[in-house]
Amino acid sequence: MRHVLVTNDFPPKIGGIQHYLGEIYRRLDPTSFVVVTRDEAGAEAFDRAFGARVVRVRGPLLPTRALAARVRGLAREIDADLVVIDPIWPLGEVAASLGLGWVGVAHGAELTLPLRLWPTAGRIRSVLAGALGVVAAGGFVARALDGVVPADAIATVPPGVDLERFCVGDRERARKDLMVDPERSLVLFVSRLVPRKGAHIVIDAVAQLHRPVELHVVGDGRSRSALEQRARRRGILAVFEGRVALDRLVASYQAADVVAFPAHDRWFGLEEEGFGIVALEAQACGVPVVVGVSGGTAEAVDPASGRLVASRRPRAWAEAIEERLAHTSPPVADARGFVERHHGYDRLADEWHAGLERLASRGRTAGSG
Ligand code: GDP
Repeated sequence: MRHVLVTNDFPPKIGGIQHYLGEIYRRLDPTSFVVVTRDEAGAEAFDRAFGARVVRVRGPLLPTRALAARVRGLAREIDADLVVIDPIWPLGEVAASLGLGWVGVAHGAELTLPLRLWPTAGRIRSVLAGALGVVAAGGFVARALDGVVPADAIATVPPGVDLERFCVGDRERARKDLMVDPERSLVLFVSRLVPRKGAHIVIDAVAQLHRPVELHVVGDGRSRSALEQRARRRGILAVFEGRVALDRLVASYQAADVVAFPAHDRWFGLEEEGFGIVALEAQACGVPVVVGVSGGTAEAVDPASGRLVASRRPRAWAEAIEERLAHTSPPVADARGFVERHHGYDRLADEWHAGLERLASRGRTAGSG
């Protein structure tokens, strides 16, 4: 089976969706697909190293006749059976004019939000009525499609993590390098510093712990100075690392005793966490996690070593963090096993391939029936 992937989000552009598609597609048979995506700085070098054919279009891909003609031409050239479109809306608006079976990709808010709003919900439903199916990047997104497409038209392929990059490392060394006082317990928070990610809850929770703790906050964002003030007011030892390079991010995970990620819903659920990749990264480094319940976060947490917390109360967070700290020095390398079993990209690429085969066969069944 050959296909054309049409997407606005592909490396070298940085971001969650770009990373997900890049990791999966670099593991697929390079003769089995062509990518159509937007041009950007660094694309030429990336494409040369990538191995498969990437066709770059200037500016964002829009659902125009010109794009449809381009995709049709490429599909003919490689004798494709299928077109994969990401995002489903609005790009899926071109699908009807392709004359080929197509599958959409759904990641999270880009679909769940317009699906809840009028009039976009109607447009998305009518676009999807012509699709063979949807690849959902996680169970949470798959559930959001309940009643929109039939259950057997969904293939779920959750996000993953690079297991070579995020791994158990030299913990003592990392602690010596990064911590003010390596004798303390290290609670780590990693994320953009915006209210939904909940760094303020970790600060308040750490202030309630009855043991010597050092809190490290990795990431940057509009809440940073308010969070720094809050940590000062609470009198805790907190190190705001800002945005750090990848090596340092990995070392921070490797040094930590627990990663706390109190992501939570905002605006009555209109804003929620799609998945919680930070939890996967932490666990791949052997660190147990305490994670807030929001959107798809439950899928990212190892039920054996991690904890989900539905409350935003600092007391509940302090208890959950304390419980992990009491059991996790040194950290539970088992947390990594969960990620290896369910979220390694080799496995996810196989699932992607099998998912597309299955969804494409729905078209063949329909066509022959
Ligand atoms: P989003 O920010 O809402 O898109 O959250 P995601 O969970 O999709 O992406 C967060 C990603 O950004 C994770 O892979 C984090 O490790 C990464 N990240 C956050 N802060 C930093 C940082 O300071 N440095 C690096 N290298 N990565 C970071």
